[in-house]
Amino acid sequence: KAKTDGRGTYCFFEPAMDAGMQKRRKLEVDLRQAIAGSQFEIYYQPQVNAGTEEVVGFEALLRWHHPERGLVSPGEFIALAEETGLIVPLGEWVLRQACKDAASWPGHVRVAVNISPVQFRSPSLIHTVISALADSGLSAFQLELEITESVLLTDSETALATLHHIKKLGVRIAMDDFGTGYSSLSYLRLFPFDKIKIDQSFIRELGDSKDCAAIVKAVVDLGSSLGITTTAEGVETTDQLDQVREHGCTEIQGYFFGKPLPFSHVEKLLRKG
Ligand code: C2E
Ligand code: MG
Ligand code: MG
Ligand code: MG
Repeated sequence: KAKTDGRGTYCFFEPAMDAGMQKRRKLEVDLRQAIAGSQFEIYYQPQVNAGTEEVVGFEALLRWHHPERGLVSPGEFIALAEETGLIVPLGEWVLRQACKDAASWPGHVRVAVNISPVQFRSPSLIHTVISALADSGLSAFQLELEITESVLLTDSETALATLHHIKKLGVRIAMDDFGTGYSSLSYLRLFPFDKIKIDQSFIRELGDSKDCAAIVKAVVDLGSSLGITTTAEGVETTDQLDQVREHGCTEIQGYFFGKPLPFSHVEKLLRKG
């Protein structure tokens, strides 16, 4: 008997493979319908100043209201959206919607939008950024794009030109998931990033691993000597909070200060101050 639940699948017969393929194809069909039928919603997670605990921005995180499966997280569909190219229209929608949403926030509160490497390489990106800003009225300084180092892995000259173009608009560029790739350090030399987001895998083990603490401290020191803001991702406990503060992290994002929330909750949170 073959298991057909995706990962860890073993099979003796072809049909099990077909079931996996069918599942994937169904997801792709669902994804196309979802884009057409606006089944997506953006959740926003607060980012706070490490010293004052004031909210300085929100990261836009995509959620899919699947008609049968309920709320689906990006971990389950971003990869397929990238493989099929659907990430381009989807990412464009996120960018436009996030700018619209953030336009109603106070001027010092930023919105951070994740840009997939596939979307980043699409020739329409710069135009999308410009028109998302123009249509929403959001100030370019309030928009931050989060990219991962993989963006610079291939055709880095074109990628750098794109980054410089975006930066010239006044939009900030953050390097996401810092430390999980192979050559994060060398990329810091290539482009003046505004922000480094220290990957949550380092924060998670702060309590148990001296090495993680040393790495976080080194990244923060590096950031501060290069004039780059550092954000600790995935801070959940007081202990982690104390440690990242001690190391001098500029900003904090994580369940400790808040999980990703629907837009309507953000407005309430901002009104409370
Ligand atoms: P990311 O950009 O690194 O986003 C941070 C992820 O960590 C989010 O997961 C967030 O909910 C989660 N997180 C934040 N604080 C904590 C914490 O304290 N503990 C734990 N356990 N998790 C925390 P999410 O929303 O599931 O998104 C996963 C990834 O999917 C994102 O990682 C990003 O790479 C991608 N993604 C999300 N939205 C978009 C989007 O609109 N476009 C693209 N291209 N990718 C997106
Ligand atoms: Mg991110
Ligand atoms: Mg991240
Ligand atoms: Mg990530």
